Amino acid sequence: MSQQHKDTSSISGSSPIQTGEQYIDSLRGRDLTVYLFGEKVEDIVEHPMIRPSINAVAQTFDLAQREPELASAISPFTGERVNRFLHIATDAEDLVRQNKMQRKLGQLTGTCFQRCVGMDAFNALYSVTYEMDQTHETDYHQKFKAFVGMTHKHGYVIGGAMTDVKGDRSLPPHQQADPDLYLHVTKRTADGVYVTGAKAHQTGCLNSHWLVVMPTLRLGPEDKEFAIVGAVPVEAKGITYIYGRQSCDTRSMEGGSIDVGNARYGGQEAMVIFEDVFIPNQYIFMDGEYDFAAMLVERFTSYHRRSYVCKSGVGDVLIGAAATIADYNGVSKASHIRDKLVEMTHQNETIYATGIAASYQGFATESGAFLPDDMLANVCKHHVTKMPYEIGRLAQDLAGGMVVTMPSEQDYRSNEVGPLLEKYLKGKADVNTEDRVRILRLIENMTLGRNAVGYLTESMHGAGSPQAQRIQIMRQMQVDYKKKLAQALAGIENEETRLEIMAKVDGYFARVFKLSDQGDRS
Ligand code: SF4
Ligand code: FE
Repeated sequence: MSQQHKDTSSISGSSPIQTGEQYIDSLRGRDLTVYLFGEKVEDIVEHPMIRPSINAVAQTFDLAQREPELASAISPFTGERVNRFLHIATDAEDLVRQNKMQRKLGQLTGTCFQRCVGMDAFNALYSVTYEMDQTHETDYHQKFKAFVGMTHKHGYVIGGAMTDVKGDRSLPPHQQADPDLYLHVTKRTADGVYVTGAKAHQTGCLNSHWLVVMPTLRLGPEDKEFAIVGAVPVEAKGITYIYGRQSCDTRSMEGGSIDVGNARYGGQEAMVIFEDVFIPNQYIFMDGEYDFAAMLVERFTSYHRRSYVCKSGVGDVLIGAAATIADYNGVSKASHIRDKLVEMTHQNETIYATGIAASYQGFATESGAFLPDDMLANVCKHHVTKMPYEIGRLAQDLAGGMVVTMPSEQDYRSNEVGPLLEKYLKGKADVNTEDRVRILRLIENMTLGRNAVGYLTESMHGAGSPQAQRIQIMRQMQVDYKKKLAQALAGIENEETRLEIMAKVDGYFARVFKLSDQGDRS
């Protein structure tokens, strides 16, 4: 097997990766080109800034061990139990369990656990390859199923690489001054294709075993060379990773455990640069079918925008931190404090409610894969672009100014000023001062530090920035239908309009209440 398309099945031998520890071991000794602070990183697993992100992914394995019904499923490809992040959802219950698993993992890690992009890409590609084959008489679906089966056999982590760097946002890919600003095919051989380009903000890319590259937007006939979907091992020749830094990230290199806020878990994003990276034919799942790029992006975002219920799990941690500091400060009985916790909870549950509703309202595609309701998925993600900021604001309100003015861990530990801080950072007499410092640092971490990347700004831009959801909501808001509803009740309609409305109302409710799949969202 050539080095260019080696199968990483050797990583875990013949049995699948099942525990967090096995997963961490599977990441050791890989030949990766990773840059951080201008230097090549030799060992990502033991790097103090990178390890917390690996620990977060490891939790996805350990949770599946502890709660198999929640975080695993039976693979139709191997007949064995497989991690839910690799499972193709075939009913609403599968989609709902994804969401419940995501909330739980947000609670356990307080950060981004990085596996949802791969899960959502798998689910979207399952139906899109099926429908592409129907139209174009291609064989992508079989090849894709073989790939999914292989990942089940080994228990791999999959990264979904969608977001191109995009250059001039007003121009389509083929009109860019530099064609590499969108990933594209540069060369073809009888064995496969070579691709060049760069994907930005790649969540968990280094912590994955395989990356699936996909187009990032609707494409036209002249963008054919950009219509490429394929899988490559993370260590494929020609890939360079440039690690993204996060606010306060170097605190993890200071050696302490307080100032980092959340010492164990963190997220990961990197820029992934592809320079003539080879994708063998067996791992190509779209090549030139530009007319299916929009379907892939829309289906992927339909899954991914309700995957953001992960933030309700992270929100649970922040609400808990805010309630804890109120206890430590002796103010937990004040009615305005309780009311702020109620407001935080209301907003947090609103995120969860719309995400889980999108899953319950899902429907079967021709391939059998279940697709969430697009409108509700977009509403969920749109909430996520706003509500964590308000929840974060209220957490800082409850924390008080000390959250940003507290002296360092080194001062707290020093013989000279440590005792002074111990005395003057005290809250309630029966509360350990260090505990008070620790919870304040966690609030700082989640609203200003490393995990604010995931909880706030990533909530804004991940799975598409707010405007992307507003466009989808606008497309599906049926305002003409709603105008007719109002006009009918105001006595403005004629008989023809009335019948049309009744048919649409029947169709809409049939969809909403699952009486048939013929609902109206036109
Ligand atoms: Fe999953 Fe949330 Fe991280 Fe996206 S931000 S990968 S949905 S945990
Ligand atoms: Fe994300």
